[in-house]
Amino acid sequence: MNSRFTVLTTFCIVALAVLGTLALAVYASDAVSERQQRQQVDEFSNRALLRAELVSSEAETALRQLVRYDGTPCSDDHLKQLRQTEEQFRYVREVGWTDGVKLRCTSARGRVDTALPAPEWTSAAGFTAWQTETGKRGNERPMFNVRLGDHVVVIDPRFYLDIVPLDNTIELAVLETQDGTIISRSPGADHELLRAALQRNTNNAYFERRYYTVERSHRYPIAVVAYEPEDRVRRNPLAQLRHVLAPALVASLLGTWFVMRWRRKLRTPRNAILQGIRQRQFVAWLQPIVSLESGRCVGAEALVRWKLEDGSVIAPDTFIAMAESLGLIEPITDQVVHSVFDGAGSVLARRRDLHVSINLAGEDLVGTRVLDTLKDCFRKYAVRPEQIWFEVIERMLIDTARSTPALAAYRAAGHRIFIDDFGTGYSSLSYLQDLPVDGIKIDRSFIRSYAKGEEMNKIVPHVIEMARSLDLAMVAEGVETRAQADYLREHGVQYAQGWLYAKAMPADEFLRYLERESARAREA
Ligand code: C2E
Ligand code: MG
Ligand code: MG
Repeated sequence: MNSRFTVLTTFCIVALAVLGTLALAVYASDAVSERQQRQQVDEFSNRALLRAELVSSEAETALRQLVRYDGTPCSDDHLKQLRQTEEQFRYVREVGWTDGVKLRCTSARGRVDTALPAPEWTSAAGFTAWQTETGKRGNERPMFNVRLGDHVVVIDPRFYLDIVPLDNTIELAVLETQDGTIISRSPGADHELLRAALQRNTNNAYFERRYYTVERSHRYPIAVVAYEPEDRVRRNPLAQLRHVLAPALVASLLGTWFVMRWRRKLRTPRNAILQGIRQRQFVAWLQPIVSLESGRCVGAEALVRWKLEDGSVIAPDTFIAMAESLGLIEPITDQVVHSVFDGAGSVLARRRDLHVSINLAGEDLVGTRVLDTLKDCFRKYAVRPEQIWFEVIERMLIDTARSTPALAAYRAAGHRIFIDDFGTGYSSLSYLQDLPVDGIKIDRSFIRSYAKGEEMNKIVPHVIEMARSLDLAMVAEGVETRAQADYLREHGVQYAQGWLYAKAMPADEFLRYLERESARAREA
């Protein structure tokens, strides 16, 4: 449940991060693409206006040239002049002369007698204009007529928009600005929309789900209107996000997988122990050691406990072997040493009859680092070296060449050395006499059976005998019953440690234990 919750929380965080990043990216790229697209529409209408002005200016120049003609209207000479003008100007399709009532002659048709439509627009400069239809019935095309004085030029309105299309979704038109008549438009452009855009009096705007731009000419009463569907210019961000949802989901799942793997990697025993060392979570608990003769506490064994952040306490069996194999035991030993002094340094300084026995690991016997650690502690607390004992297990002593120098150095510094769990190793008893040790701790497995009413393990008398002959002190471990204690005392074992007296306890509790014991002794 807990791990499912962690996965879910991780997924939510990763998904939020992925979606947030994608949303930001989509927003940024949309903003850029909108600007580019708008620029394109604006540029397109600008180019169209330049073309429309060019066509209008040709009509104007042609007409201004024609009005200067002062010969006989519609004479051969005049007709020649009309044809020359038509050829001279690229966008002029036909040139004609009118007597004000009818069109009397044109460059293309010679002398004619065609009714003259009423002008639809007039300009301040004297120009008038109107639209006509030409071509076969059913296939008529609009033509744009402009008149100045007695002359008329006809322009194919398609020329007004004769530019290379940039984008076939952009619709375009040239409009007359006086009444909004459309002079020319792209085939898909909508009349109503074009006029509405012209009337809005803004240059660019979004309306009716389109983006519009209106370019007005300063020279002629014309304007270009261009528009494009709004969704081509700016995209709906929600719709965009819908597209990225599936990849985002896949990315989030992958991200969650990576994070979970990474977390698992972080939670390796090595990292956990390293974190424990950094946070000084390794503390010494103390288990009293009692003199079997007097029944009084003579000291304690320091037994390491790992105190986790949540307050739980882990016993050494679960982590000591691992810390040793990971090469992390030395900082743990150092923390135990410091913890012993912080917890019991004052009482040791006060009571010279007490000692604390510290367990050493194989690595602690490679050099004499522990002596340096102790030096710091001795500076802080007036404890004597003989009050600090060390316990090493048999296994560590097999390589005597390696361990003997360190043991000798510890002893030379004033400390006593005990062989821990004595009897569980495979070494012969005889090698003991060559080792620089002060005593043995008889492993609890040998005296366990005696507590159940069975006979004492046959090895015990041998071990006791041998220790006595070598003048080694003895501590019996795991003493749980009075009978065990009596047996051991009767057979010459000096010290005992076990639940019969007390279990391992935090230092402050051990101090209270000592006070209670002293009070009892005083009473006795
Ligand atoms: P050990 O040094 O032989 O310590 C004695 C163990 O026997 C302790 O277990 C203690 O709590 C337990 N014990 C004491 N009296 C009784 C009893 O009457 N009955 C029973 N059943 N058990 C009793 P603990 O504290 O779990 O320590 C286990 C082992 O971890 C120690 O065995 C020692 O080898 C190692 N250890 C403990 N502290 C340290 C340390 O600071 N450094 C190193 N390197 N090893 C340590
Ligand atoms: Mg021990
Ligand atoms: Mg032991």
